[in-house]
This record gives sequence, C-alpha cells and structure tokens, in this order.
Amino acid sequence: MPELPEVETTMRGLTPVLLHQRLTSVEPRRADLRKAIPVDLRQRLTGATVTALARRAKYGLIGTARGDTLIFHLGMSGRWRVDPTKVEPHDHLLLETDAGRRLALNDPRRFGFLDLLPTAELDAYPPFAAMGPEPLGPTLTGAYLLAALNGRTAPIKAMLLDQRIVAGLGNIYVCEALHRARIAPTRAAGRIALPRLERLADAIKAVLRDAIAAGGSSLRDFAHPDGALGYFSKQFRVYGREGEPCACGGVVRRRVEAGRSTFWCPACQRG
Ligand code: ZN
Repeated sequence: MPELPEVETTMRGLTPVLLHQRLTSVEPRRADLRKAIPVDLRQRLTGATVTALARRAKYGLIGTARGDTLIFHLGMSGRWRVDPTKVEPHDHLLLETDAGRRLALNDPRRFGFLDLLPTAELDAYPPFAAMGPEPLGPTLTGAYLLAALNGRTAPIKAMLLDQRIVAGLGNIYVCEALHRARIAPTRAAGRIALPRLERLADAIKAVLRDAIAAGGSSLRDFAHPDGALGYFSKQFRVYGREGEPCACGGVVRRRVEAGRSTFWCPACQRG
C-alpha cells in the first residue's frame, strides 16, 4: 500500500501540474470511496486556484485561494494519473486546470477517501488532531522519543506504528528503521536509552529519505504522477527478506502477529 514516501513523491509530482493553476473542471465520479465524498466538493473547487500542496502523515493536502483544502488518502491502492488518455473504470475524481492539464484519482479498492474542509480547520481535523510529529520534521529527535516513550512497556515496534507517537510510519519503514538502528522490534519502548533513541530518530529519517529519493513504492503497480513505475523493494535491508543474509552475517527472520509481518535480524538487532 502507498506509504509516506509514496504520498510525498505523489505531492512532488502533483505540484508542477497544480500549483498556481485554476481548476476549470472538478468531477467526482461516484458518491463515496471509503466514506462519502463531500456533496459540495465540485462547487467549492471549480474555479478555485491551487495555492498549496503539502503532505501530513499519509494524507495529501491541496489548498486553494478560496480557503479550502482538499484532503486525500490513497488507501490500499490509490494513485493519481497525470494527463490520462482516457477515463478508466476506477478513476473516481477528475480534475482539469486552465492550462489544460488533467488528473485522475484512481483507486480500484476504494480504501482511500476524499474530504474538503476550510484550511483554518485542518489542525482540528480528527485524523490530525492527536497526531504526533512528522518523522521528517525537526520535532522527531532522540530526546522527543525519550519523553514520548517514557514508562511505556509496549514493544518499540508497536509504539512507532502508533500515529500519536510519530505520524505516518507504516510497517515497512518501521522494520527498516529498527534494523538500521540495531534495535530489536520487541524491545520495551520505555527501556531504550537516549543514545540509541537518537540513532533511531536518525534511522527513521534516513529510511524515509532514501525511499523518497528512490521514488519509493511498496505496491507493485504504483505509478508515479508522471506515469513512471516506482520500486523501492530492492533496497530494503530486512523487509520481505526472510531467510536471506543480513549485511552483518546474520539471517533475516520473520514473525507474523495480527496479520502483520515483522522482519528483523536477531544477530545485529539485539538491544
Ligand atoms: Zn544483522
């Protein structure tokens, strides 16, 4: 499924198409995805000029000069297609700009969603209100993790997947970051000392930056906004590599809990 790096690369791909452009046509093609599409979405966006594109966790944000922000989530299979030659069955929102550019939000499984609200109300939007800091932002440091994890007995892996601790981290990048930081996924979160949490904060940023640089994708058929296919899996150090050698000489292991796989190397992730 699209993770934070895919959403980030999507926003970077959408920016040259949408920024400072006026939306001349806004066409939702169904009433709902995972939840209802706002009924006034077409009316509020048509004729509006896009003034900002941003990302919060795994949500894409498209702001307009009218003071509204279109929020999208790509769910399991969502992606934007740029200048599609024809409308496809799973294109659920079509946009057109005054420069003649066209965009289609395509989502076969429809776990994604679209929402629209006044930009001034973004911080209070329920998915955002209790969200922790952005992993690539300045707030995420070893000292922040030390304070946020203080007294917590849950495994560090579960804590990193908790959006209230850090926003937007998914299973793949948590596995990769813990491996880079040489921390066992099962380690009690509140019992990790500051120097190792500093290493962990750095590792989280590094795996995400590397993925973004690679145009990262965790979904085989994910298409970048420019239409190119993106792969990152060949650069994973532990994710999806059960039984393969780790760079340290150990062997990558996999464990499944609640339908979710943890990949780690018991040889170098000891602490
Ligand atoms: Zn190892």
